[in-house]
Amino acid sequence: MPVRRKHTKPFKACTKCKYLVPHDVERCPVCGSESFTENWSGMIVVVDVENSEVAKILGIKHPGRYAIKIGI
Ligand SMILES: [Zn+2]
Repeated sequence: MPVRRKHTKPFKACTKCKYLVPHDVERCPVCGSESFTENWSGMIVVVDVENSEVAKILGIKHPGRYAIKIGI
């Protein structure tokens, strides 16, 4: 498969829940969305959802990497 453009980031972000996945993932494991964007900035890693204030503020219920901001 030809590569049309170089990936500048190691991950793409789910446009629904901001979960970050590698480029070869086609479906978000958290919300099931197939819509992703590379236009994201900032990354947080949530390990312990139960005890994370950031997770509570952002409404994160699944451990993993998340983009802080998504937008074009
Ligand atoms: Zn998602």
